[in-house]
Amino acid sequence: MTNSTSGCLYLVPTPIGNLADITERALTILRQCDAIAAEDTRHSGQLLQHYGIHTPMFALHDHNERQRVAQVVDRLQQGENIALISDAGMPLISDPGYVLVSQCRQLGIPVTALPGACAVVTALAASGLPTDRFAFEGFLPAKPQQRRKRLQELLLEPRTLIFYESPHRIVEALADIAAVVGSERPCVLARELSKQFETYLTGTVAEVQQQVLADANQQRGEMVLMLGGAVATETDTATTEALATLAILRRELPLKKAAALAAEIHGVRKNALYQLALDADNQ
Ligand code: SAM
Repeated sequence: MTNSTSGCLYLVPTPIGNLADITERALTILRQCDAIAAEDTRHSGQLLQHYGIHTPMFALHDHNERQRVAQVVDRLQQGENIALISDAGMPLISDPGYVLVSQCRQLGIPVTALPGACAVVTALAASGLPTDRFAFEGFLPAKPQQRRKRLQELLLEPRTLIFYESPHRIVEALADIAAVVGSERPCVLARELSKQFETYLTGTVAEVQQQVLADANQQRGEMVLMLGGAVATETDTATTEALATLAILRRELPLKKAAALAAEIHGVRKNALYQLALDADNQ
């Protein structure tokens, strides 16, 4: 249900590096709306100035979003149309706006997103990795232990994996990926999309790692890191089947005995299967 007297919240994507990557519709909305909520008003001021847009702006960023939402909702309910922009690309995609949008949805305030620039889909489309199914993981955790844990969780993910990564952490992130996921996975590092030094480094994790280590320029700028998904091996399939058998046997037998029998039936390692079942119990 939408509230027909309310104004509309427009989610307006802005360029991710090339000022020309903004649609006519986006410029019209930015010109005609009552106010623009911007992640960083100084940063966005340059874009608006470039296009001769003089709509009033106010700040809505990660640190004030929760407090600001009530005011923005109030203005929308009074009939104002408000555009939300972030520093670059699609608002809400690793950027502020989620709290506001979910609140608007709950209150029936119309929300519409304009199509436009977004680093994740831009990088994926040109990566050469499978595009039919993908998992966008945002930024990997900055702390090494948490980063490795996240990678461990993604080990068996069959979809293409996409991460935003900071240039300061790219060397460490690739090292952790090699250690946890393995160095043979297909890997693409897309840098500086739509900018002068746009680059795609492609190969295996080990090959991309080598190129990054050999050239400090490859450790600079904005980047999207992508990995081919896990390919189910015969071992994975046997383990999956063994776990299903184990689940049935456990109805009648203690775990240890059930694991031993299921392992024998499917030709997998008894201890590994037992451990997997324990891990699943503890999740
Ligand atoms: N909302 C943005 C979007 O739609 O893509 C993403 C914002 S997030 C705070 C910024 C991250 O996006 C960068 O650290 C980088 O990982 C990625 N990114 C943004 N612009 C990029 C570009 N031109 N080339 C490569 N990656 C980019």
